[in-house]
Amino acid sequence: DAPTSNYYVNTAFAQKIFKPRSKFSHKGSFGHALMIAGSEGKMGAAVMAVHGGLRAGAGLLTVHLPTRGYNVLQTALPEAMVSLDAHAQYVSNFPSIDDKKYSAIGIGPGLGKHSNTLRCLTKLLEKAQQPMVIDADAINLIAENQDKLLTNVPEYSIFTPHPKEFERLVGRTSTDYARLRTLKAFCQKHRVYVLLKGAHSALATPKGEVYFNSTGNPGMATAGTGDVLTGIITGLLSQRYTPFEAAALGMYVHGLAGDFAAKAEGQYSLMASDIINYMGIAFKTLE
Ligand code: AMP
Ligand code: MG
Repeated sequence: DAPTSNYYVNTAFAQKIFKPRSKFSHKGSFGHALMIAGSEGKMGAAVMAVHGGLRAGAGLLTVHLPTRGYNVLQTALPEAMVSLDAHAQYVSNFPSIDDKKYSAIGIGPGLGKHSNTLRCLTKLLEKAQQPMVIDADAINLIAENQDKLLTNVPEYSIFTPHPKEFERLVGRTSTDYARLRTLKAFCQKHRVYVLLKGAHSALATPKGEVYFNSTGNPGMATAGTGDVLTGIITGLLSQRYTPFEAAALGMYVHGLAGDFAAKAEGQYSLMASDIINYMGIAFKTLE
């Protein structure tokens, strides 16, 4: 636990990661992201995640969701493409990833934990080769089926748990210090990144380093903000940022957009959509 293994993600750090767009780029330069999300009662989580991904600059974004989410998703976000599941209420047949069509995959927001969804997640993890972004119910499903699923998570994937989801994954820890130690050990053992969300989100790496975020405010402790973050990181990963860069830059910009929203309109009424609306201004500070 040498102090040198802890870092702070501030403006200078984010600026070093950020890649401006070249004049001769086209939408193919920014990849094609896939977001697997949504279930009955939680379609909004898919909308939030897709919105985050598009605002983070994904060239193309396809969302795979239950049929009942189709109208709300396309009304909210005509820019997204939709891959419709066979089932109305939950995801039961993930799209084939054999064709390497997607440059990044995010999974979890509003997914639910139906046994058919679990079956698909199991198959997806068996086939997946590229690092993916794993959030919310995808984390919960993996936590509940660790023996079968955890070893198949692709190396350098990014988990984005809030404290409760992290606890489901690794068990209860008695102190913050013990939790940090458990966080590092989990990342080293499974060769993944974990972005443990909170007031100072902590991004831990497979080497056991921890990068603490400098942006964000308590106004962001509200429904849907985590789903936006999952979208942002998936959108950045799709543009060929490395998993570390996507996670670090994503958490910084997400918090900064929240700070701009709070500065303009206060923390009290802040909603996840406000973070989305200030993402452009947040990215602009890095250009
Ligand atoms: P989730 O619980 O998945 O919706 O994620 C919540 C999001 O809000 C994460 O990105 C957290 O980092 C952020 N957040 C929650 N509480 C705070 C806080 N007190 N200060 C800053 N960010 C927060
Ligand atoms: Mg969440």
